[in-house]
Amino acid sequence: MPYAIITPMTLSPFAVAQSQFDEAAELMGLDPAMREVLRVPKRELAVNFPVTFDNGTVKVFSGYRVQHNITRGPAKGGLRYHPGVTLDEVRALAMWMSWKTALMGIPFGGAKGGVIVDPGRLSLREQENLTRRFATEISILVGPHSDIPAPDVGTNAQTMAWFMDTISMHGGYSMPAVITGKPVSVGGSEGRMEATGRGVMTVTLKALERMGVAPQDATVAVQGFGNVGSVSATLLNRAGCPVVGLSDVNVALWNPDGFDLPDVHRWVGEHRTLLGYPHGTVITNRELLQSECAVLVPAALEGQITSDVAPGMRCRLVVEGANGPTTPDADAILRDRGIPLVPDILANAGGVVVSYFEWVQDLQAFFWEETDINTRLENLMRRAYDTVQGVATDHGVTLRQAAYNLAVDKVAQATTVRGIYP
Ligand code: NAD
Repeated sequence: MPYAIITPMTLSPFAVAQSQFDEAAELMGLDPAMREVLRVPKRELAVNFPVTFDNGTVKVFSGYRVQHNITRGPAKGGLRYHPGVTLDEVRALAMWMSWKTALMGIPFGGAKGGVIVDPGRLSLREQENLTRRFATEISILVGPHSDIPAPDVGTNAQTMAWFMDTISMHGGYSMPAVITGKPVSVGGSEGRMEATGRGVMTVTLKALERMGVAPQDATVAVQGFGNVGSVSATLLNRAGCPVVGLSDVNVALWNPDGFDLPDVHRWVGEHRTLLGYPHGTVITNRELLQSECAVLVPAALEGQITSDVAPGMRCRLVVEGANGPTTPDADAILRDRGIPLVPDILANAGGVVVSYFEWVQDLQAFFWEETDINTRLENLMRRAYDTVQGVATDHGVTLRQAAYNLAVDKVAQATTVRGIYP
């Protein structure tokens, strides 16, 4: 059966992140010393820790927490549980967070964490044991004013609740602001679960409007059906876009008449995968990425749109729901082919924006209505899109180059004004 297999990357994620930064630094004429400072993470913690399994055996896991930059505020970034996690990948994801928070004007730095594990193979109790021990191991870095994690691939609101409880137990009092993406019952924010997908939807509609394409004429294909992919597909569909392509780690599906998203959700709720869903034709991952659609939303992992894939792509717009899904050489191919791309640090920033709202609500112990949160988020996303689009148009650069220019400049300015200690 033609499974949705992801092709291996040629360039490591951190090499990609550094190459994107180098290009921005070059275009901006960034001072060489500043370039050296911002090109590498500030702090990296690697941990190896034992976890007791349900059958009494003990297994040792490895994990990381990397803080790329904390000049503009506390470190902020998700925790990833995936068998493919590496220190290199976490470094890249941490750097992208620094640019994302700066671009969005949120007073946070950039960080990321991860554990090399397939959470799908662990029982709920084993996942809890792993999370509590990992939280303990990285507790020397995290805190409401120092480093605030959030969900990413393989982690969810339950993971965040265990993490928050563990840190709170160590402190002897409840510390909701230590992590975001929690359940609402323990200080989570309304709208956080959908925030990244809502942001993807908002910038996609903005980009389509600019292209003069009505939502009902904009067919959408989404790679990945987790938090970001499923919410992006659902909200774009609600906005009128027919969703014709979907995939997860097991399978890619095509339905030219458009998927019935509530029905897909029912299937995935029951089977935990798209595999076997009857109302779609099975295609390969490459076929999905190269499908004829108006909008392609990669929302799985890094390194999906490569120089091997990009020449055959037939979409009219790419919106990066995932972090780092496009390699620099593929980026250049898309640019030359005139296919616009809304970059990750803008497109998927909705998650960290509402994480910021959650942190503010936790610190103030005062909670906002969901409609307020969604309105503020959508306004911020629209404003950020307009700013990036404006710079891109004025300077004749891509949206990624414009976004990097704005973001790197903010971090560089903050670093300059604070000065080099001592
Ligand atoms: P998730 O774990 O909820 O979902 C990941 C999806 O990708 C799943 O459908 C899974 O089946 C699929 N997937 C995993 N490995 C795959 C593979 N090898 N091939 C094809 N599909 C695969 O994760 P998520 O939170 O939706 O994150 C997805 C992407 O979005 C990541 O790049 C993440 O860093 C980024 N992101 C997430 C958030 C957030 O708030 N969760 C915010 C910003 C960016």
